[in-house]
Amino acid sequence: MADFHEVHRAEIQRLLTKIERYLMQQKDLFGNDVYIEEKRAAKKSAADLPFDYLDEPWAGAHDLDDLNRQISACLKCQLGHTRTKFVFGVGSPKSEVMFIGEAPGADEDAQGEPFVGKAGQLLNKIIEATGMKREDVYICNILKCRPPNNRDPQISEMETCTPHLYKQIELIKPKFIICLGRIAGQWLLKTNDSLGALREKVHDYHGAKLLVTYHPAALLRNPGWKRPTWDDMKRFKAMYDEIRSSTSK
Ligand code: URA
Repeated sequence: MADFHEVHRAEIQRLLTKIERYLMQQKDLFGNDVYIEEKRAAKKSAADLPFDYLDEPWAGAHDLDDLNRQISACLKCQLGHTRTKFVFGVGSPKSEVMFIGEAPGADEDAQGEPFVGKAGQLLNKIIEATGMKREDVYICNILKCRPPNNRDPQISEMETCTPHLYKQIELIKPKFIICLGRIAGQWLLKTNDSLGALREKVHDYHGAKLLVTYHPAALLRNPGWKRPTWDDMKRFKAMYDEIRSSTSK
């Protein structure tokens, strides 16, 4: 079982080491005065996301297509070598709602599109039950490449791939993020809480409201979870409608 607190600690440590190195460099160059590069500082606060990807060559991608073009040949982890297709994401780039799953399965790997298999068909029905269509929302995964034999994503793979997701979030600026399943919820929120505990709250995720619900594949295995999933979606829809009506006034 992955220790998410450990990963979080390691991330913070890495960040602190980077900051320390940067400040030492600055001190060597400028003494005790601190100079901030305007453009980077502005970009950082706009994104306000925990992974630092500003040094990546694709950090300046101006839209989702541009980002996809720049990262779709990624070979940063082992999954790049075993995938059939890179599964970037699908839907409206301007959507206020993002659904985030775990990783592509066999169908997604073959077609290059997230949630197109049986779980995807069920996800479409869940989306339609809220009065929206698949094309109205944005759908993607934490990992962009399929783990062999549908095994769980490894921490190192999620660490390597999540900056891509952060950039997608930065470009889309969703008001709602719906995590499909425990793994996506725990990973984004950096917690070990159970799915039950995660479902109970509306989380703040860098300004977006984040909800966690059952993964559609779990609903296929256990149809008894469809009812609580519908309750989660009703909660989401009520908040979504409220925000829409208050912004259209
Ligand atoms: N499961 C996921 O988490 N993502 C997909 O794209 C398909 C199945």
